[in-house]
Amino acid sequence: MRVVFMGPPGAGKGTQAALLAARLGIPHISTGDIFRANVAQGTELGKQAQQYMDAGEYVPDTVTNAMVRDRITHEDCRPGFLLDGYPRTVEQVAELDAMLRSAGQKLDVVVELTVDIDEVVTRLVKRAQDQGRSDDTEDVMRHRLEVYAEQTAPLIETYSERGLLVRVDGMGAIEDVTERLIAVVIVN
Ligand code: AMP
Repeated sequence: MRVVFMGPPGAGKGTQAALLAARLGIPHISTGDIFRANVAQGTELGKQAQQYMDAGEYVPDTVTNAMVRDRITHEDCRPGFLLDGYPRTVEQVAELDAMLRSAGQKLDVVVELTVDIDEVVTRLVKRAQDQGRSDDTEDVMRHRLEVYAEQTAPLIETYSERGLLVRVDGMGAIEDVTERLIAVVIVN
């Protein structure tokens, strides 16, 4: 099963994506997690990504696309994968289409986790305090939400037109949201 998981920053996306991928028995591929790991390890990729992440901007498509292409061709992705935080731009959608086409594969479902935006701001501020993420100061966080609205929200329409989109309410207890996700993804 090949799943794309979308939603604004702070929607609880990473947590739910990891839980859903575990339940489906497929790798959880979070581009944000991969970038953060590279920053922590001081790799060349990390150096390229950090300035963008700290500013709440997207890492350039060429860098991100190459990273995903490399990751989804690993053996563990043969039964499928869950992409969390990718694609995020029109260019990335086109690139993912090309990657899948060349592998003779297709997406099964695109999940949009929907949330109340005020609640998102509260969650992001709390996460900044809990985890000390350098990209979660209030200004950066507001900018991340703007970038999402401008560049990523329009992709939801694209996937909806392709008949791939399902929307799931991301509000409420973690377990309840996971159960809702399982229910809609399994039927797809
Ligand atoms: P996330 O943990 O998914 O919120 O991602 C954290 C940060 O990593 C983002 O704010 C971007 O700077 C970068 N990032 C993650 N995924 C992408 C992507 N698909 N395209 C560009 N930048 C990304």
